[in-house]
Order: sequence, then C-alpha cells, then structure tokens
Amino acid sequence: MTVAAKLLKDFGLRHTTGREEVLDLFLGAGHALAHNDVENGLSPDHDRVTIYRTLRTFLDKGIIHRVLDDEGGTKYALCRETCADGHHHHDHVHFKCENCGQTTCLDDVQIPSVALPDGYNRKETNLLIQGVCQGCNK
Ligand SMILES: [Zn+2]
Ligand SMILES: [Zn+2]
Ligand SMILES: [Zn+2]
Repeated sequence: MTVAAKLLKDFGLRHTTGREEVLDLFLGAGHALAHNDVENGLSPDHDRVTIYRTLRTFLDKGIIHRVLDDEGGTKYALCRETCADGHHHHDHVHFKCENCGQTTCLDDVQIPSVALPDGYNRKETNLLIQGVCQGCNK
C-alpha cells in the first residue's frame, strides 16, 4: 500500500485515484500548494470541482490545513501533528520566500502566545514571516 493510500485509510476516506494523486502531491512537495499548483500537478482528467471537493474533504478531515498567503490567496499544507475531524491543532509559523515564492510550514517554530483584551475569543492565529528561505540561501 502506498503512503497516500494508507493515509486515506487511516482517515477513513474512500480511496479514489484523484484523492491519492492529490495526497501524493502534498507528500512530495515539502511546501504549501495553492489550488493552481494542485491542478497543474495532476493528470488533466481531474476537473476543478473535483479538486476543490478533495481539498475541502482533506481540510475537514484534518489532513491538510490552510496557509494564508500574502497575496490574499490560500495555500494548503499537510498537517504533521495529529489533527482530527474539523479540529486543527497547530500554531506553527509559516514562511514565505520572496525569491522562490514558496510557503513552508515551520513546524517546530511555535507562534508565541498573544494575550487578547477581554471580549475577544481566539479561534485561529496565523503568522506569516516573509524573507529568503533556506533553499535560496544556499
Ligand atoms: Zn491540521
Ligand atoms: Zn526560496
Ligand atoms: Zn503549516
């Protein structure tokens, strides 16, 4: 069984070639992917709607999480920690490289806790650091 097929099974998702291909892309990427990256990385017989639904399902299941991008778009990245149905547990920093344009999860870098004034309930915290990444710094 492939890694992607096993992941689908672990998360109780029915195996389809589309799902497996999308998951393979994320497993191989090492950085966050935009919808277009996913679309371009797949064989052309997958339409936009199916890809959108697949990403939606993976988000809901806790397989991938949303990564905010500075250009207002959304990217997606694999969840490394254990995220369950509808509950994502991570507060790691994302890094956007202005040279290669890739956004990476810095899984080991935690967002410092931010104290909010009374009456504000935190749901999600996003921290995007921009600069030059490790790969481009070589
Ligand atoms: Zn997650
Ligand atoms: Zn870079
Ligand atoms: Zn991330």
